[in-house]
Amino acid sequence: MIVNTCGFIDAAVEESLDAIGEALAKNGKVIVTGCLGAREKTIKEAHPSVLAITGPHDTPAVMKAVHEHLSRPHDPYTDLIGVKLTPPHYAYLKIAEGCNHRCTFCIIPSMRGDLVSRPIGEVMQEAENLVKAGVKELLVISQDTSAYGVDVKYRTGFWQGRPVKTKMTELCKSLGELGAWVRLHYVYPYPHVDEVIPLMASGKILPYLDVPFQHASARILRLMKRPASAEKVLERLRAWREVCPGITVRSTFIVGFPGETEQEFSQLLSFLQEAQLDRVGCFAYSPVDGAAANALPGPVPDEVKESRRERFMALQQKISEGKLKRKVGRTIRVLVDEPGVGRSSADAPEIDGVVRFNGGGPGEFRDVTIDRADEHDLYGRLQ
Ligand code: SF4
Repeated sequence: MIVNTCGFIDAAVEESLDAIGEALAKNGKVIVTGCLGAREKTIKEAHPSVLAITGPHDTPAVMKAVHEHLSRPHDPYTDLIGVKLTPPHYAYLKIAEGCNHRCTFCIIPSMRGDLVSRPIGEVMQEAENLVKAGVKELLVISQDTSAYGVDVKYRTGFWQGRPVKTKMTELCKSLGELGAWVRLHYVYPYPHVDEVIPLMASGKILPYLDVPFQHASARILRLMKRPASAEKVLERLRAWREVCPGITVRSTFIVGFPGETEQEFSQLLSFLQEAQLDRVGCFAYSPVDGAAANALPGPVPDEVKESRRERFMALQQKISEGKLKRKVGRTIRVLVDEPGVGRSSADAPEIDGVVRFNGGGPGEFRDVTIDRADEHDLYGRLQ
């Protein structure tokens, strides 16, 4: 079993170590890759029996370890496209590695370096191969998807003999021609993100935007070295919804950042109430080794951080519940992950809710009429 890990913040490290433990208990043969792979000692101390540990973005090392430790079964998908670690009907499409930002809570740039965009021709070829191999949903990922091409000055590449710029908007237009669902993740809120919203409205790519806002207080955002102000974000959300009323916006936030006052936290709650985001993740700040934010004054006590996280999530839960209830009675298209479970345009795999019903086969697109909702999932009938 291959476990892809994250070492982004301490909570993620814990989660990754738990995932490795679970995989060992289930399977016994485990290869660890991803961000946390750069911290070999931490993994070896917790789980000495893992077969191999590779660093992030090191597909050849993963494949070498697989071939060394496990017999290689024939797999038409793997043979065709290299490595494939997800179910056959969806796939992650990595478009770049590294990041030019220096958010003070994050150590990814020191682990992975500055942004390096993959050539657009290569990305599009991979996407095309995946769709030809039966993939129905492409999940576009990188550390900073909206920065795609900045490092190569938006160089023009070629796909199917025609010029295409190494730029998020052009990538989205081209991906939209493949006939698969296209979902954007980790979209840093640059102004040009607005350009992809019409593509969502016209159905070229999924009306889903995963855009981490992290906080709403201007002072905390400055300390985090993040852009934008809460008012601007609210204005942009309004504009996005005007252009694409069906858009699902997912975001993540950090509470208990060093120096965060009760008043700044309340500001965040008011923002959340007003923003009415569809999907939200919230982390209590944890000081990752090597992060610049650790040197900031005013660490927030753990119990305060935890209570803020709980208050934040309680409010968001009400918002999500209300938003999901409004879908009752509608018929929505889902991609079936397994019989009885599918995802709509509003649900990314692993991180969002699901739609439950009877029947359906993996990889099928089906229409489901929604009968009821809880705070995470929808329940309905196949049409
Ligand atoms: S944008 Fe910020 S949080 Fe995201 S990878 Fe870059 S430095 Fe880290």
